[in-house]
Amino acid sequence: MDVTALSVFENRCLINGQWIGTGETASGQRIDVTNPATGELLSSVPVLSEAQIHESVLTAQAAQVLWKKYSPQQRADILKKWFNLMHEHKDELATLLTLEQGKPLKESRGEITYAASYLEWYAEEGKRAYGDIIPSADSSEVLVFKEPVGVCAAITPWNFPAGMITRKVAPALAAGCTMILKPASETPLTALALAKLATEAGVPAGVLNVVTGSSTLIGKILTESPVVKKLSFTGSTPIGAKLMEQSAPTIKKLSLELGGNAPVLVFNDCNLEQAVQQVLDCKFRNAGQTCVCANRIYIQSGIYDEFLEKLAQKVSQLKVGNGLDESTTVGPLINAKATLKVQEQIDDALAKGAELVTGTAVQQPGNWCVPTVLKNVSQDMLCAKEETFGPLAPVFVFETEDEAVQYANDTEFGLASYVFTQDLNRFIRVSRALEYGMVGVNTGILSNEAAPFGGVKASGLGREGAKYGLEDYLEIKYVCVGNIT
Ligand code: NAP
Repeated sequence: MDVTALSVFENRCLINGQWIGTGETASGQRIDVTNPATGELLSSVPVLSEAQIHESVLTAQAAQVLWKKYSPQQRADILKKWFNLMHEHKDELATLLTLEQGKPLKESRGEITYAASYLEWYAEEGKRAYGDIIPSADSSEVLVFKEPVGVCAAITPWNFPAGMITRKVAPALAAGCTMILKPASETPLTALALAKLATEAGVPAGVLNVVTGSSTLIGKILTESPVVKKLSFTGSTPIGAKLMEQSAPTIKKLSLELGGNAPVLVFNDCNLEQAVQQVLDCKFRNAGQTCVCANRIYIQSGIYDEFLEKLAQKVSQLKVGNGLDESTTVGPLINAKATLKVQEQIDDALAKGAELVTGTAVQQPGNWCVPTVLKNVSQDMLCAKEETFGPLAPVFVFETEDEAVQYANDTEFGLASYVFTQDLNRFIRVSRALEYGMVGVNTGILSNEAAPFGGVKASGLGREGAKYGLEDYLEIKYVCVGNIT
């Protein structure tokens, strides 16, 4: 498909309101962007030079002086216009997203709606960056102002090419910060399309800059720069740790949304039909490539066989194919390496005693993966320890609540977790006991703009969404008015 025919298409970087293409880059090099379903070359994006990346930082610094003086209402008007433009171009954006990322069109449309919702939410929330006046013990007045952090950088992954961008850019801009954004090299076109709509909405030059090229070089410049006051990163835990280390000398504020290893605890007292459907949605959305995907599915012994039978039946009906085909429910994985990781986990589990329930022991070559369910899985298997990021559902059995919680917490990660029960006391007890930033109760889908998304332990720092997402882009300034007579 010819992506250049899409009106939102853009394959140049954005610095200081100028679109920078190959002709303007020092190297003249570009990064190819391919369709993971077909291998077809869609387009390419520039490899920016060191000087250009530095320029994006200085540009964001100059723009911030002006942007922070915009009133919250003025900033809100621009963000709302951007929100409206995303909805006007929803179908085109979804097509572009499916082309470069692979997920089914229905999911891409859902992601565009989800991504746009952060623009609307923070357009409003920016108006409510309340400070405080605190009663003092002496004759002074204690005033607390909330001020923008300043120039911010964002580095985003390929699994949600639109959502991961607005979740960062919307609160940053609403707070009065400016931003340099580096999208994933696999999916930069959605980011550039969003930036194109942002400029159309009236985001002033330099307030949002989008850079592409060498991730190590861009990461180094953005983390080492004393001008950049905050880095928001979504991606893998090892890269997050590396960026944290690089940010230490400049004492940067950090938001890190990192890897997960989500447990699902399904108790005998659950609504079984509901639990099976929710686990299916949670596990196989985006072909299992979400950080909040069900990674380990623990079923209480009383319903183990019935749950497995119902889950296997639904999984066998999933349709793997090109996301542009409306009947597809599971698209390709992002690349062949991702398929090999799933294969490695299946091989390891089968060698250690797991059994195949549905799917296949040998995955298809290339970027394709058959949705697979394994039973008799145990904690010593790779699929229990590592994030799968593919359509493999390993199902474990447990007897008691304590045992289930112990299994669930037996990981260095702490992003999302899920509980299925109809027992009110159990839902409170287990939610409290789970060492996770998020708990879904009787649901497999928990992210939305009104909720604080984020993890604990090796899953990261900070929250995105809700009022908490705005606070991550605000500094507290205490003003002491003393000797009042
Ligand atoms: P990744 O390899 O860590 O890449 C993420 C981003 O970091 C990409 O833009 C990548 O750029 C960039 N990057 C890679 N190496 C870098 C370096 N040395 N310096 C600076 N930037 C660097 O992760 P991924 O495979 O794309 O994404 C999957 C991971 O993200 C999973 O672990 C998933 O759980 C996690 N995730 C977490 C959340 C959350 O909210 N917690 C949400 C979504 C995904 P290039 O593409 O140019 O290499």
